[in-house]
Amino acid sequence: MNIIVMKYGGTSVASIEKLKNIVNIVSKEVKKNKVIVVLSAMAGETNKLQSYLDHFISQNSIESDLVLTSGEQVTIGLLSLALKNNEIKSIPLLGWQIPIITDDNHEKAKILHIDNKRIHKYFENNDVIVLAGFQGITLDGKITSLGRGGSDTTAVAIASSVEAERCDIYTDVDGVFTTDPNIDENAKKISKMSYEEMLEMASTGAKVLHTRSVELAMKNNLTLQVLSSLTNETGTFIVDEKELIEKEIVSG
Ligand code: ASP
Ligand code: MG
Repeated sequence: MNIIVMKYGGTSVASIEKLKNIVNIVSKEVKKNKVIVVLSAMAGETNKLQSYLDHFISQNSIESDLVLTSGEQVTIGLLSLALKNNEIKSIPLLGWQIPIITDDNHEKAKILHIDNKRIHKYFENNDVIVLAGFQGITLDGKITSLGRGGSDTTAVAIASSVEAERCDIYTDVDGVFTTDPNIDENAKKISKMSYEEMLEMASTGAKVLHTRSVELAMKNNLTLQVLSSLTNETGTFIVDEKELIEKEIVSG
């Protein structure tokens, strides 16, 4: 049984219409594979939740993470419902239901361990697991969040844990560009880049992927693809540096 992991960011889940788009992509994939869909909250939702918290002085707390992680509960429930409406066997799961175990650094927790026994159990009766990104649970039962943008890291961690066939990160652009395509009309899509190049890009402030997700993919040698949920285009592959060099030698 092959498992594909797909992660959808806030703009890809921002409306019921957009969720239907995801149903279309998933419905093609379930013909051949089991699918874990990792979701963010709807675009703007986590900012809204943070703005409520900003009214209080102490924020690094159990309560903050409980509030901040709530947006993902909504999107996984809605997508799972949409999938079931399309006769796709699906189950929505929060981080603690896996469980995704983290340390207790609230608002920037690190994943320590993923117990994937239950994932395989759920796949006995389901073709799709819709998993809330950005969240985990400490060993003593406190809900944590992985830092803003952390659902990328959830996707990479779960893909590594189940040895997924692919880990696709869907967003609202066709991939990673040399410069911001919204500002620069000469921006070019990069077809393949190394983890190191991606980390370098992140260090200059380009917010394509959560930095920890790239580090984790590099550690586990997991190829990532960044692509658009709205077009059918191949995106940008983020791969091991060795693979890039070998490719250059062959094609050069
Ligand atoms: N919803 C969270 C955030 O806005 C996590 C994510 O989108 O990756 O930061
Ligand atoms: Mg993001």
